[in-house]
Amino acid sequence: MSRDFGSWLFLGSIFTTLALEPDEPGRDRCGSCRACLDACPTDAFPAPYQLDARRCISYLTIETRAVIPRQFRAAMGNRIYGCDDCLAVCPWNKFAQAASEAKLIARDDLKAPKLEDLLALDDAAFRALFSGSPIKRIGRAKFVSNCLIAAGNSGLAALLPEVERRLDDEAPLVRAMAVWAVFRLDPKKALRLRPAALDSERDETVRSEWHALETSAE
Ligand code: SF4
Ligand code: SF4
Repeated sequence: MSRDFGSWLFLGSIFTTLALEPDEPGRDRCGSCRACLDACPTDAFPAPYQLDARRCISYLTIETRAVIPRQFRAAMGNRIYGCDDCLAVCPWNKFAQAASEAKLIARDDLKAPKLEDLLALDDAAFRALFSGSPIKRIGRAKFVSNCLIAAGNSGLAALLPEVERRLDDEAPLVRAMAVWAVFRLDPKKALRLRPAALDSERDETVRSEWHALETSAE
């Protein structure tokens, strides 16, 4: 937390052999505020000053390679790469200046991407679109699986054909989240597709998504 820059900071490290004098510890500047705790969509703060990273959407959409637990999917809404809601509500960021570093400024072509286009990305298109972006490091399968959760939360029937195509994706992580998203957009269709899908599906993660369909509305 910085008086000058707020809390929305990009953290970095410098390794050096210099003997540096340590700074004074930072002061508590939160007072009675709890805006970040109340804003968190997945209740990732069990108490003030404590974060359960396993519940944080930034961890879930960027860091973990495991299937995102069902309990968090609806709460993720349309977040497909990170979250930062806790930073957006922090009153200290009223005083912060926008970064002038070119690498931190949003690219025009990525300011309002269409979910339908993101769902259809193959590996080559994913790499081309996110060349030079940190999004590239999570890989196409993780990214598209995040987009499928957003599609499942969208309520947009128009996304169903593209979501359904992902049921045959080569990546099990993508197929798994496509199962969930199809059910969210059209439960009856998902239940109709299930028997044939289970006949041919060999991946245990995807099979468990088919078996768990009835809990996907939660
Ligand atoms: S980034 Fe989002 S999910 Fe993570 S702690 Fe902040 S508000 Fe919660
Ligand atoms: S929103 Fe900012 S000031 Fe308020 S509790 Fe969270 S970190 Fe502290």
